[in-house]
Amino acid sequence: MRIQVLDEATIGKIAAGEVIERPASVVKELVENALDAGARSVVVEIEAGGCECIRVRDDGAGMSAADLPLAIERHATSKLRQFEDLASLRTFGFRGEALASIAAVSDLEIVTRPVDAAHGLRLRSVFGRRTTLEPAATAVGTVVTVRDLFANVPARRRFLRQENTEAAYIQRVVGAYALAHPEVRFELVVDRRTALVTDGSGSLENALVGIFGAEVAAQMVPIAPPDELLPTQAEPLPLQVCGYVGLPTLTRSNRQGMLFFVNRRWIESRPLGVAVEQAYHSLIMAGRYPVVVVDLEVPPGRVDVNVHPTKREVRFADERAVFHAVQAAVRRTLALHTPAQGIPAVTFSPLSPPSLQRRLVLADPSRGASAGLRALSQGAGEERFPAPEEAGTERALPVLRVLGQLHSTYIIAEGPDGMYLIDQHAAHERVLLEQLMTQYERAAVDVQVLLEPLVVELTATQLAVLEDYREELGQLGYRVEPFGRSAVAIRGVPAVMHRRSPNTTLLAILDELASGGRGSSRLEALAISTACHSAIRAGQELSLGEMRELVRQLEACTAPRACGHGRPTMLHLSQQELERQFARR
Ligand code: ADP
Ligand code: MG
Repeated sequence: MRIQVLDEATIGKIAAGEVIERPASVVKELVENALDAGARSVVVEIEAGGCECIRVRDDGAGMSAADLPLAIERHATSKLRQFEDLASLRTFGFRGEALASIAAVSDLEIVTRPVDAAHGLRLRSVFGRRTTLEPAATAVGTVVTVRDLFANVPARRRFLRQENTEAAYIQRVVGAYALAHPEVRFELVVDRRTALVTDGSGSLENALVGIFGAEVAAQMVPIAPPDELLPTQAEPLPLQVCGYVGLPTLTRSNRQGMLFFVNRRWIESRPLGVAVEQAYHSLIMAGRYPVVVVDLEVPPGRVDVNVHPTKREVRFADERAVFHAVQAAVRRTLALHTPAQGIPAVTFSPLSPPSLQRRLVLADPSRGASAGLRALSQGAGEERFPAPEEAGTERALPVLRVLGQLHSTYIIAEGPDGMYLIDQHAAHERVLLEQLMTQYERAAVDVQVLLEPLVVELTATQLAVLEDYREELGQLGYRVEPFGRSAVAIRGVPAVMHRRSPNTTLLAILDELASGGRGSSRLEALAISTACHSAIRAGQELSLGEMRELVRQLEACTAPRACGHGRPTMLHLSQQELERQFARR
């Protein structure tokens, strides 16, 4: 469309005003023009917070020789012909006054070339006075350079903040437009250094990474689509809420992380901010604000963008429906991604990392049985043995008071510093392992002798393992004899196994050992496997007395915090963490 000067009546109806208050306003107007021109790439370079230089380069449609001089005339636009067109407007610009306003307060240069032109054109205007219009060699698209902003209006210049503050405003503007247009490649260069860049792939997720960084972007989730369109009383309102919202764990101390767009136009809206903050109510602490990128798709006729000179505020025909839709969308999304219906995620920490490093190192039997227990208590700091450096960390288990059982699997206990969840199986496995090894150390393993020998059929593999472990089985209290070609007679098992039926348990142990077992020696592997298969299971209901006894035995262990397989036996929720989670401090 050709540029034409609007007639007076139309000018009168358009709310005009000062649009350029700071460098960021210049960037906003130039970026909007680039997008209106269909750019696929927008590069913004600034120097000294934009006061010295702002350059916006696009690969859009460019301007013809006839249009270029008009572009800096007031109320000259290619985007609107009459007031009624506003209702179907799909461009950012429509007043035709941005370039004129910028030209009035800066040293402005526009170099442009439309796709069908043999060469480009350069226009220069120094503080409102056009000085040059000449041919220029340039790529298709437009480069607008604004130097010495407000140099002729010292009063305005004095109102500017420090350079890096102005640069931060600019970064927010470019970031916002980049998020609203993921299909356009954006780059911002601040004092010759790239401050942000998006890939223009069309993926909002990629744009989020470009703007917020990977760490923040990883904590943002796409707004869940609604079940149906939201109807109003009069007619169904085709309204779409898209974008990304931060998980409740991602908060900021100000509202800068909340960005709103209407039909991809970046807007400021307190009511929308309130709608979002209410959606996060009770999920984040008072005084903290979420990070959200919300884009509303509204029919152009249902939103008035012409209520504010900078067009940063808009008016909706259906305010309540819009706010309700935004709030519902954010709520719905958070509900999908927040565990347990809005209860803040609680961080339990294992008492010690699953201490595979502190696996038992059992010596060969020739060096005497005591090596086994010494290894067992490595890191334990018991008086009888030399205490390694990490003594205390592994040992010191506080005295715990049992409160109850959860899921017939975990014991809930209270200690001097908060709450403990104990995995009953892992804990019992640890207790039995140490009992068994202590007995082995003393060469006094308790054996449960069976009144009637149990005869079990073994597979070839099980038989091979049995043969392989013959010596260790004997050392740990197993009394097993060959019985025919493929069967054995079990005459006795370690007493720690008394809760289990000896035959099926032995088979399970042989199978575990066949697949490698766990431990640094055969004796250790057999001890761990025996303890594991003898221990009470998850899902088994325990009486308060049984739980107390188990916890007491665990307290007496030399390495109570991990089972023989290295899994933690308990999780700890500290007093401090409790207070933090309930926002008491
Ligand atoms: P508006 O955007 O409201 O029309 P502006 O003063 O921002 O007013 O721009 C005036 C006109 O200059 C636009 O209507 C457009 O035709 C042309 N123009 C400005 N910037 C560009 C650009 N980057 N690429 C192509 N045309 C442009
Ligand atoms: Mg414009």
